[in-house]
Amino acid sequence: MSQPSRSQTPVDERTARRVAEEARETEWRLPSFGKQLFLGDFRLDLVHPHPRPDDDARRRGEQFLERLTEFCATRVDAALIERESRIPDEVIQGLREMGALGMKIPERYGGLGLSQLYYGRALMVVGSVSPALGALLSAHQSIGVPQPVKMFGTQEQKDIWLPRCARQISAFLLTEPDVGSDPARLRATAVPDGDDYVLNGVKLWTTNGVVADLVVVMARVPKPDGPRPDGHRGGISAFIVDMATPGITVENRNAFMGLRGIENGVTRFHDVRVPKANLIGAEGAGLKIALTTLNTGRLSLPAICAASGKWAAKIAREWSKERVQWGRPVGEHEAVARKVAFIAATAYALEAMLDLSGQLADDERNDIRIEAALAKLWSSEMACRIADELVQLRGGRGFETAESLAARGERGVPAEQLLRDLRINRIFEGSTEIMHLLIAREAVDAHLSVAGDIIDPDASAGTKARAAAKAGGFYARWLPTLVTGAGQRPNAYGEFGVLAKHLRYVERASRKLARSIFYAAGRWQGKLEYKQGFLGRMVDIGAELYAMSAVCVRANADSSGLGPLTGSIADGVSETDVPGASAVLLADAFCRQARVRVEELFDGLWRNTDEMDVKLARAVLAGDFAWVEEGVLDPSIPGPWIAPAEPGPSDRPGVHRTIG
Ligand SMILES: Cc1cc2nc3c(=O)[nH]c(=O)nc-3n(C[C@H](O)[C@H](O)[C@H](O)COP(=O)(O)OP(=O)(O)OC[C@H]3O[C@@H](n4cnc5c(N)ncnc54)[C@H](O)[C@@H]3O)c2cc1C
Repeated sequence: MSQPSRSQTPVDERTARRVAEEARETEWRLPSFGKQLFLGDFRLDLVHPHPRPDDDARRRGEQFLERLTEFCATRVDAALIERESRIPDEVIQGLREMGALGMKIPERYGGLGLSQLYYGRALMVVGSVSPALGALLSAHQSIGVPQPVKMFGTQEQKDIWLPRCARQISAFLLTEPDVGSDPARLRATAVPDGDDYVLNGVKLWTTNGVVADLVVVMARVPKPDGPRPDGHRGGISAFIVDMATPGITVENRNAFMGLRGIENGVTRFHDVRVPKANLIGAEGAGLKIALTTLNTGRLSLPAICAASGKWAAKIAREWSKERVQWGRPVGEHEAVARKVAFIAATAYALEAMLDLSGQLADDERNDIRIEAALAKLWSSEMACRIADELVQLRGGRGFETAESLAARGERGVPAEQLLRDLRINRIFEGSTEIMHLLIAREAVDAHLSVAGDIIDPDASAGTKARAAAKAGGFYARWLPTLVTGAGQRPNAYGEFGVLAKHLRYVERASRKLARSIFYAAGRWQGKLEYKQGFLGRMVDIGAELYAMSAVCVRANADSSGLGPLTGSIADGVSETDVPGASAVLLADAFCRQARVRVEELFDGLWRNTDEMDVKLARAVLAGDFAWVEEGVLDPSIPGPWIAPAEPGPSDRPGVHRTIG
C-alpha cells in the first residue's frame, strides 16, 4: 500500500481549519454544563440532583445486563481471543441472538431500545471481559450505520437499514492513508451518475471493516462550478454502502499492539455504484453528521475505560495485599499505596462520569457535546495511567503475559494486555490533541462570538474596531461575574457535607479558569488558537472539574437518605459498613487527588517551556540535533545497513547557532 504523501492533496492549514469549522454544530439550543463551566458559571443545577432512568428503562436495562453478563461469563474465552487474535463466530452469533447488535436501535425496528445509560453499562460488561469485543459492538453502534441513520436518515432509510443493523455488523469509514485528524484532505470520491453515485477510494483502519455487512463511507462529491439543475451541491458526504456491492475489496487485516481480536482492515472502492437513496442527509453534510453522531458516540470509549478502571481496582487490591516484600504487603509501602489509592478513587470517578454523561444524554434536557468530549478525553487518559500503574505495582508479573503466567502455574492476570488494549483510546475517535482543540474551540466560543473579528487575522481594521466596541460591552457585563461566587461562601452546597468544600473549589476554579481564558485571549489574540499547550491545560482543568462535579453528585445520590456526611479518609475515618457513606469517602479522596492535578495545571498555564519547545522542535525538524540520534540502529529500515549521515555544521555537538 502507498505511503501517505504530502503532495497527493495540497491542503493548507487555513483550509483544514475552515473544513473543521464548517463541520461544527454552531447552535446551542439547550443548556450546557460544560460550556458554562469554562465561562466561570458553575451550573450545579444542570447535573444535580443526579438524573435517574425511569422505571421502564431500568427494568429493561437490568434484564438485558443480566443475560449479557451470564453470556460473557460463560461463553466468551478472552484468552482465546487474545491468543488467536480473533473473536470466534459463536460469540458474535450469541451476541446477535440476544440482540446485542441492536442495543440502541428502537424496538419498532427490531432493536432492544436501551437507553444510553444501559448501553454504556452493557459495553462495560463486554469490555471488561474483552476490549476487542467491546470495540466491535461500539464501532458498529456508536459510529457505524445505525446511529447516523437514526439521527439523520429519512423514514424510508430507517425502515430499510435499522432492522438490518439490529442483526448485522457495520463500520464507519472516514480515515484514509492521507487523512487522519484532518478530513479536509479526504480523497475518496462519489461522483453523481444518473440515479447513483460512483464511489472510488481507499479507506484505512476500518474497525469491523473485514467482517462488516454494511458501512458508512465518507466521500467527496465534486463541487459543481456553478448552480446545477439536478441539485448537486457537492462536498464531503455520508453514504450507506452494502458490502456485497461489486467493486469493494478488503485488502488487509491490520494488526495492532492491542485489541488483537478486532477485524480492522483496508477497504478499497473501485467504481462502486451506490444508489442516491443511500446518501444520509444532504450532500456536503457528511462531516457534520459524523461529528453530531459522535456527540453521544464518544461515550462508548469511556465505558470501556470505566470497565478497565474497575477491574484494575480489583487486581490492585488483591495483589497489593497478597504480595509481601520487605516484611509488609507491597500495598502498605507508601509508593505502592499511592498507586492503589489513585486507581480506586479514579475507578469510581470514571464510572461516575460515564453514568452522569449517559444519563444527561438520555434526559435530552442538556446539550452534552462538551461533557461527552470531556469524558472521552479524560477517561482515555486516566485509564491509561491506571493501566500503567497496575503494571508497575504488579512488578515483573505486570510485564509478563497472562498466558505465560498461567503456563508456569500462576494466576493469568492480563495487566500488560490492559495497557496495550487501552492505548488506542487516546488516539481514535478524536486523539487527545484533537479533543483538546475541539473542546477549546467550544469553550472559547462565547469569547469568539463577541470578539471573533478582533482576533480574526483576515478582518479589516474597521471590522476589528466595531468588534472591539461590541466586545467591550460584553466584557463589562461579564467580567464582574467572575470576581465573586458561591465558592467563597463557607456554607455553600452544605447538603453535600464533606464534599461541599470540593464543590466550592470547583466553583472558584471555574471562575479562575474563565479569567485565565479572558487574559489569554487578550494577551495572544489571534494567536491563541496556536497556543496548544495553554489550550490543552485549560481543557484538562475543565475535565478535572467535570470529574469532580460528577463524583460529588454521584456520591450524594449514592448516600441519599443518610444526610450530609462529614467523615473523610484524610481525617482517619477509614471504613464504614454503609455503602453510600463509603461512596462519600471515596469521592472525597478523589476530589483531593484531582485538586492537586488542577493546581499543577493552573500553574502550568503560565509557567512552562511551551514557546521554547516549539522553537526547539522546529530546530529538531530541521535536523539541527540529528547528532543526538547517532550510535544506534533503526529497526524500521530493512536490511543490514545504516544510511550514511548527511554532514552539516550543526550535526556536531558543540556547534551552536541561534534558533527560532
Ligand atoms: C485500531 C484503530 C482503529 C481505528 N478505527 C477507525 C474506524 O473504525 N474508522 C475510521 O474512520 N478510522 C479509524 N481509525 C483511525 C483513527 O481514527 C485515526 O488513527 C485518528 O483519527 C488519528 O489519525 P492519524 O492516525 O492519521 O494521525 P494524524 O492525524 O496523522 O496525527 C498524528 C499526530 O499528530 C497529532 N495532530 C494531528 N493534527 C493535529 C493538530 N492540528 N494539532 C495538534 N496535534 C495534531 C495527532 O493527535 C497525533 O498525535 C482507527 C485507528 C486505529 C489505529
